[in-house]
Amino acid sequence: MMNKKVIVIGAGIGGLSAAIRLQNAGYQVEIYEQGNQPGGKMHQLKADGYTFDVGPTLVMMPSVYREVFELAGRNPDDYIPMIKLDPMYEVYFKGDPMRHYRISSDLVDLMKMIEAKGSKNSSGFLNYLKSIYERYQVALKYFITRPFRCPSDIYNPFMLYQAMKLKTFSSAEKMMASFIPDEDIQRLFSFQTLYIGVSPQKGPSLYNIIPMIELLYGTWFIKGGMHTMAEQMAKLFQELGGTIRYRTRVEKIRTAGGKVIGITAAGQAIDAPYVICNADFPYAMRYLIDDNAVRGKYRSEKIDRMDYSCSCLLFYWGVGGKFPKLATHTFLISEDLDDNLKSIFDGRKLGDPSIYLHVPSQSDPAMAPEGKSSFYVLIPVSELGTAAYEWNEETIDEYREKAYAAISRIPGLEDVRNLVEVERIFTPENFEAEFSAYRGATFGLQPTLRQSNHWRPQSKCMQCEGLYFTGSSTHPGAGVPIVIEGGRICAEELRRDEKTDGFA
Ligand SMILES: Cc1cc2nc3c(=O)[nH]c(=O)nc-3n(C[C@H](O)[C@H](O)[C@H](O)COP(=O)(O)OP(=O)(O)OC[C@H]3O[C@@H](n4cnc5c(N)ncnc54)[C@H](O)[C@@H]3O)c2cc1C
Repeated sequence: MMNKKVIVIGAGIGGLSAAIRLQNAGYQVEIYEQGNQPGGKMHQLKADGYTFDVGPTLVMMPSVYREVFELAGRNPDDYIPMIKLDPMYEVYFKGDPMRHYRISSDLVDLMKMIEAKGSKNSSGFLNYLKSIYERYQVALKYFITRPFRCPSDIYNPFMLYQAMKLKTFSSAEKMMASFIPDEDIQRLFSFQTLYIGVSPQKGPSLYNIIPMIELLYGTWFIKGGMHTMAEQMAKLFQELGGTIRYRTRVEKIRTAGGKVIGITAAGQAIDAPYVICNADFPYAMRYLIDDNAVRGKYRSEKIDRMDYSCSCLLFYWGVGGKFPKLATHTFLISEDLDDNLKSIFDGRKLGDPSIYLHVPSQSDPAMAPEGKSSFYVLIPVSELGTAAYEWNEETIDEYREKAYAAISRIPGLEDVRNLVEVERIFTPENFEAEFSAYRGATFGLQPTLRQSNHWRPQSKCMQCEGLYFTGSSTHPGAGVPIVIEGGRICAEELRRDEKTDGFA
């Protein structure tokens, strides 16, 4: 096969996934990354012997992670050693007293917990699992793993029948309430839409596949934290002969006569017949592409009218102590979850935020100095376009206080504020500045019904030959395994065109 050049803008997970596949297939792939490390939001911070993942932390669908290495004939265990977590996580509802649930990865233990709430809840839970599993099979086969190039890819009797089977019209929250009477149990298995930045009140019920995926395939931990996946993907890509240029910002995607001709980076024009853009889709449409014919329907006005996922405020704390009873993942859910969710998506400051505490040193002690722990404290907050407040010191201080107040209610962590010896912070503004996440929306375009599947930006740019997109704002959406799949779809779309061009 001819050794064709492919430029990838961004070493995020979508870009790396596409790049590995194309380099492995014989293309000559060059990645241009503005930052100084691979992974994009799967970034890593180090401070005074503590190691923190900046963004993703929960490993789901481990087979998708492993497949990246297997496709190149490698043993994934040599690159990303993983352990299965049990419990998967613990959940506290912040009432008085707090209500505590341990979400075991063992269905036997889990049933014990749910049966204690009465058989209507346990049989409702099993019915939910059956119903969502069937829908998941359809989604996986016909929607998540394939592209939608043209209207006939979806508007045909067979696909419309499959779409009906997804029953996406109700919200995640309503679907759970239809199966399970107990409110805590409903919430234990619907808050997970927040993992992809959409409220369970608004997110299509299909996203209740997320807790199902956790329950049936487990949650996992990669040695060294999530960033190991990014590092090892970059390593594999380079072993295959690919090149990564860090600290090199792409300023423009160059096009002419309906074809891509290359990029401009650091003031220099670099030519290539193929460009894959892993920079956030709405940001790329606004700032990397000048030609309205190439933007197609994604002009600035449309980009600003679209719905964006929520963002996150993060505190990374180096904590001088060990907490043997603490799980690797703990969720503290607001007692008034409805108001909490509404505030996030209406742009108001949060009175009683929900908080996610991740302590990677519980699974890998090497991520903190001996006898100490690294804490990752995440608060879902409004994206910058919706927020009616500023990210100044006062806002950060307010949220830090709320985080301390909530976390110190966890047994064993009463004294946490006095043990914090290192702090780093990421606000929505940092996500925008560091990774060009449009409006600081950490999960990209919100996966509402109108922005999912064939309605979501697709990998192949139909208005410009040789230009492709990948990443969380494109189909199939956000979350590491889903973005890895998006990278696969992107690479396959490019190869499909190459084959019809007659080069392959
Ligand atoms: C706080 C947080 C927690 C999360 N938790 C989880 C989790 O537990 N589990 C999970 O599965 N997912 C989680 N996610 C989601 C997951 O991290 C993302 O969906 C995924 O990493 C996005 O990958 P991407 O390739 O779309 O984009 P990105 O990671 O944004 O990568 C894009 C890359 O492009 C680069 N770039 C942009 N513009 C340019 C330019 N002009 N020139 C050069 N380079 C450029 C950026 O620097 C960046 O490296 C989380 C995300 C966040 C932020």
